[in-house]
Amino acid sequence: MENGVMMQYFEWNLPNEGKLWKQLKDDASHLQEIGVTAVWIPPAYKADEQQDEGYATYDLYDLGEFEQKGTVRTKYGTKDELKEMIDELHKHHISVYLDVVLNHKAGGDFTEKFMVVEVNPEQRNEALGEPFEIQGWTGYSFHGRKDKYSDFKWHWYHFSGTGFDDAQKRSGIFQIQGEGKAWSSGVDGENGNYDFLLCNDIDLDHPEVIEELNRWGKWVANELNLDGMRLDAIKHMKDKFVKQFLDAVRSDKGDDFYAVGEYWNGDLETLDSYLEAVGNKINLFDVPLHYNMFQASQEGKDYDLQNILKNTLVEKHCELAVTLVDNHDTQLGSSLESWVADWFKPLAYGLILLMKDGYPCVFYGDYYGVKGEKSPHTHILDILLNARRKYAYGDQIDYFDHPSTVGFIRTGDEEHGGLVFLMCNDEAGGKSMSLGEEHKGEVWHEITGSIQEEVTLDEEGSGEFLVDARNLAVWVKKD
Ligand code: CA
Repeated sequence: MENGVMMQYFEWNLPNEGKLWKQLKDDASHLQEIGVTAVWIPPAYKADEQQDEGYATYDLYDLGEFEQKGTVRTKYGTKDELKEMIDELHKHHISVYLDVVLNHKAGGDFTEKFMVVEVNPEQRNEALGEPFEIQGWTGYSFHGRKDKYSDFKWHWYHFSGTGFDDAQKRSGIFQIQGEGKAWSSGVDGENGNYDFLLCNDIDLDHPEVIEELNRWGKWVANELNLDGMRLDAIKHMKDKFVKQFLDAVRSDKGDDFYAVGEYWNGDLETLDSYLEAVGNKINLFDVPLHYNMFQASQEGKDYDLQNILKNTLVEKHCELAVTLVDNHDTQLGSSLESWVADWFKPLAYGLILLMKDGYPCVFYGDYYGVKGEKSPHTHILDILLNARRKYAYGDQIDYFDHPSTVGFIRTGDEEHGGLVFLMCNDEAGGKSMSLGEEHKGEVWHEITGSIQEEVTLDEEGSGEFLVDARNLAVWVKKD
């Protein structure tokens, strides 16, 4: 089977022109050509304003279909364009994963009065005073949709917290009071309890909420003929909710309906516990690996490359890790800014695209560029994607045996030749690597263009493979 590659098809600074769905549709055949097998698309439903990236979710059922919040289309286009794009991707055998935001809602239609306790932002279990009444934007009527697809109306009691009191025109973390109201268990422990992120935090313990979100999950998966979902902000969501939500959607769409979760925490043990809590039913982005690569790119030759895969998700749970270099949150100016430096990016992508383990995700910003500026990495990514498709098969023999030069052999399989991968963060080097006696006499060459010399393998099938300073090298058998 062909090696899979996911592409995150958006970045934070796309213009608000409503053209992404159309652009992606037009790009389908190119994506298939370069070996992309799945696309993660941004939140496709109405947000609190047209220019929003989709994470300030207003109406999950409005996929760019109704006049709401002053617009029919979303930042990315209309529902018709969305559906046409998905059809086109499917024609090119590319799966579509929708970004699903179920932690919070924004842009309420009217205010409601209810009792809250303000809590300490650094310690959410600590009240900052007595309960009092606020006026929060927690009422949702969805006038423009007129009950199409769902007549569910959201009210204050469907939320566990809100971030703004309209009566006092004041921001804070206001925990909603009432029968059964509490921060959820099964969320990240940062700040005491990290249930609340922003806006109106959805109460995932509320039976009406659970029923409605499950219903929506099945609806949207069928309505858009989705192949999977990327679940946003799951460290702020009750783990048991996520587990049963995926069960509900899969009861309709089948067990192979794909899911990857954004649990943004660099600590492997935390991710490990989460996977256990949700019964390994979801893939997670390999956040520890992202931070290892970020650190390696910052420290240059002082970073010991033997540690690049240490304490990562892909090392511990190779079947459940989505490996990434950067995303819309880590890019410059974003909330989790930790941009892997340009010099290291080809090395990082070489690693995730050519190693055996992990499901790699290529960021739009790295392939196409950010803020409309062309990416310097398109060419090398094309080479690496091609190498993944043609050569990155079979077992992996590791050579993580030197602080500044590490790499591996992919042995290949019946249909595909293997490869040799090397990455280096200091002066040019090389490594004696053995492919086995059956390869004796073969001539290998380097395909990224960094090394011109060829290698002829000796009687044992070994050779000295070179890598340039602060670069990567990908060697394959010469045709
Ligand atoms: Ca929450």
